Amino acid sequence: MDKEKLYRELKIDSDTLSFSEELLKGLKERFDQIDEMAEYNQLKVIKAFQENRVSEACFQGSSGYGYNDLGRDTLEKVYASIFKGEDALVRAQISCGTHALALALMSNLRPGDELLSPVGKPYDTLEEVIGIRESKGSLKEYGISYRQVDLIDNKDFDFEGIRKAINEKTKLVTIQRSKGYQTRPSFSVEKIGELISFIKGIKPGLICMVDNCYGEFVEEKEPLELGADMIVGSLIKNPGGGLASMGGYIVGKKECVENAAYRLTSPGLGKEVGASLSVNREFYQGLFLAPTVVASALKGAIFAANAYERLGFFVLPRGEEKRADIIQAVTLKSAEGLKAFCRGIQFAAPVDSFVTPEPWDMPGYDAKVIMAAGAFVSGASIELSADGPLKEPYSVYFQGGLTWPHAKLGIMRSLQCMKDEGLISFG
Ligand SMILES: *Cc1c(COP(=O)(O)O)cnc(C)c1O
Repeated sequence: MDKEKLYRELKIDSDTLSFSEELLKGLKERFDQIDEMAEYNQLKVIKAFQENRVSEACFQGSSGYGYNDLGRDTLEKVYASIFKGEDALVRAQISCGTHALALALMSNLRPGDELLSPVGKPYDTLEEVIGIRESKGSLKEYGISYRQVDLIDNKDFDFEGIRKAINEKTKLVTIQRSKGYQTRPSFSVEKIGELISFIKGIKPGLICMVDNCYGEFVEEKEPLELGADMIVGSLIKNPGGGLASMGGYIVGKKECVENAAYRLTSPGLGKEVGASLSVNREFYQGLFLAPTVVASALKGAIFAANAYERLGFFVLPRGEEKRADIIQAVTLKSAEGLKAFCRGIQFAAPVDSFVTPEPWDMPGYDAKVIMAAGAFVSGASIELSADGPLKEPYSVYFQGGLTWPHAKLGIMRSLQCMKDEGLISFG
């Protein structure tokens, strides 16, 4: 087996290969732990499939109103079992993560209520949902106010500030598990649990929602097991396993999910309608694959962190840090570095490997953004992808990888592009 020759043909030279292989030898134990976690979560998923009697008939889709859709309804039970919720809403009609989050918020808040984020600024797209940035149809327009408590030193919960911020209007608390495009650390499920206990100690009736994007199957437990009332995420990230071609989910307390269902479809109709067309099988199969896909993405993130850290770049999380999500940030210090990194990811892709990513003016951003993705599902960030704004400190946010060999190739190609530009050397 002449692996080296194949790598050469894929434009990885022997220096880059030996640097990578040497580095990976030191990561064996880490990777074993990730495989253990994947095994645990795979068993959890299979158990939920079996207990809910998933059958071939579940792969059939419905049309029209979508009444009595066995596959859709059973899938929602499977999600509820895996994530330990009372009920779930898992639908192709939920367009993306932002839609799922907006739906969860808009259906569980009423005029006069207040929303609280105790973990600082929420994900960019939520600013318009909430009305932090003026927007048509925002919560603000419906008379729902918002309060935010920033983290201390960009990492620790400000417990005193949170206590002060909770008032008689506060109804729902939103906690973002993954850092998204911020420089703070992502929160472990355990840490989220501590925050929720503290909040419920002040006002027990508060609804605690967790934005679970990029966190699913990274750890043994999920936020509902540590007191959250509702978790929300996207199917073109972790739980879709790369096969789901769209969709979003909400899992949690029966009442929270019910509210969301009546808002997604219509009061009176709720979960009873919503044709699944042909998505049932891909949702099941993707969920089945998700634990090992997440493991591949995690290995890629850890490899990237350790490789770039050794080359003198600042990485978040650090090489040896425990993971709370699949995102890896690398500060590349120059526009050339950022572009070279993204070229490497693009050139290693199975799809669109021949295109060169260019920075562009993306709506809602104050600097040009460069993105690399050669994905089967458009915009799916569980597939190997990278992006970053072209401004100081030139950080790239990197995530995904349906298989570990592909994630490995992508990072090696990024190293190669950096090396070819004279931006790094392996000493
Ligand atoms: C991706 C993401 C979202 C929004 O998801 P979209 O599917 O892009 O709308 C929200 N929150 C976090 C933390 C995310 O990573």
